Amino acid sequence: MTDFDVIVVGAGPAGSVAARFAAERGARVLLLDRKDEPGVPVQCGELLPSVGTLREMFPRAPGLDGLVEVPRRCISLDLAGLSLFSPARREYDLPFEGHSLWRARFDRHLACLAQQAGADVRTGVTVRGLAMEGGNARAVETDDETVSASAVIGADGPLSRVRRSAGLEAPTLHPCVQYTIPGDYGNTVELHFPEMLPGGHVWLVPRSNGANIGLETGGRRSLKPMLDQFVWRLGIEDRPKIETGGLLPVSGPARATVRGNILLCGDAAGQVMAFNGWGVATSMVCGRAAGETAAAAVAGKASFQDYEKRWRAEVGDQLAGSAWVRRRMDRLAMTGLTMELAFAFLRRWGIRRILGGKRLV
Ligand SMILES: Cc1cc2nc3c(=O)[nH]c(=O)nc-3n(C[C@H](O)[C@H](O)[C@H](O)COP(=O)(O)OP(=O)(O)OC[C@H]3O[C@@H](n4cnc5c(N)ncnc54)[C@H](O)[C@@H]3O)c2cc1C
Repeated sequence: MTDFDVIVVGAGPAGSVAARFAAERGARVLLLDRKDEPGVPVQCGELLPSVGTLREMFPRAPGLDGLVEVPRRCISLDLAGLSLFSPARREYDLPFEGHSLWRARFDRHLACLAQQAGADVRTGVTVRGLAMEGGNARAVETDDETVSASAVIGADGPLSRVRRSAGLEAPTLHPCVQYTIPGDYGNTVELHFPEMLPGGHVWLVPRSNGANIGLETGGRRSLKPMLDQFVWRLGIEDRPKIETGGLLPVSGPARATVRGNILLCGDAAGQVMAFNGWGVATSMVCGRAAGETAAAAVAGKASFQDYEKRWRAEVGDQLAGSAWVRRRMDRLAMTGLTMELAFAFLRRWGIRRILGGKRLV
């Protein structure tokens, strides 16, 4: 008998949700994270669309109310409205409802739900890789021990070691840098596509005590001077309180997310809306699918491959659509003028569609 039915690597939104739902299905679950406190430091713009907005974006993902319920203590500010700025700073205002989160609190809340469901949650444990046998993971190797399992869920973020051990394809990653700046920024989210940043974008997410302003782009350029320049252009004089960054998957969902008894979810599987970089909600939807499928497969009631079909049915079109839009926008972004014309052509209705990961043709 194995030590656990399911080992989940990574206690971000994808992993904690996967562990919770696998445990709720009766599996013996171990959830591991290398950080002492998962979610700290925050490496996120902390924007989460409201459940209503998510229902519109992902109509085939069931039970979003229970899944993406955010306790009040994890909400920094309620957001109403989203403005998108073209390279020439032409503004397109869209209806939008969402929240800026206290992401560290939210991640802790999700890990607590996993623990309450019966998962054994261990932090400060780094996973080195998987012990493989005939195409399946036999065990997870940490710094200190080897723990056996009937299934492994890799929710260990963009640089996933589980993915590497399983030999699954890695997404394209773009580096990001972000400042948290004090002040009053209203309650409208801003997405900017400035000419100085072809193939990337800047976000401004208002918070109760300031805003997260961040930038993402490909290439080898140094990001901080670009963000400094952008912040200066916005006329912001306050100095950043916090500086953070990270890696964002921008190529859309992986072609394969299952190998043998190994399932990938969240950033590890590229399950991020590539056009705008939103990955918290989709990671949770896919985490739930991974946890429930792994528990069912270990109990002999499903196949591991069912996970692939399930997440694609729930959010696959939008994830692929968002990547499709991104690829086209990246081509148009060769010059500010073509991007400008694209936004003018799309107007509000088209922009709303592409934010939701809907193709235009
Ligand atoms: C700068 C930035 C801003 C962003 N802003 C937004 C936003 O505003 N809204 C939004 O929806 N999305 C945003 N995203 C994307 C979002 O943060 C991710 O899509 C989301 O966190 C994915 O969740 P996850 O659980 O897959 O991965 P993560 O949240 O990255 O969690 C992975 C966990 O795995 C652990 N881990 C990694 N390797 C190991 C190992 N070897 N052993 C043990 N544990 C390990 C890590 O410690 C971590 O806790 C942003 C991303 C970045 C980089």
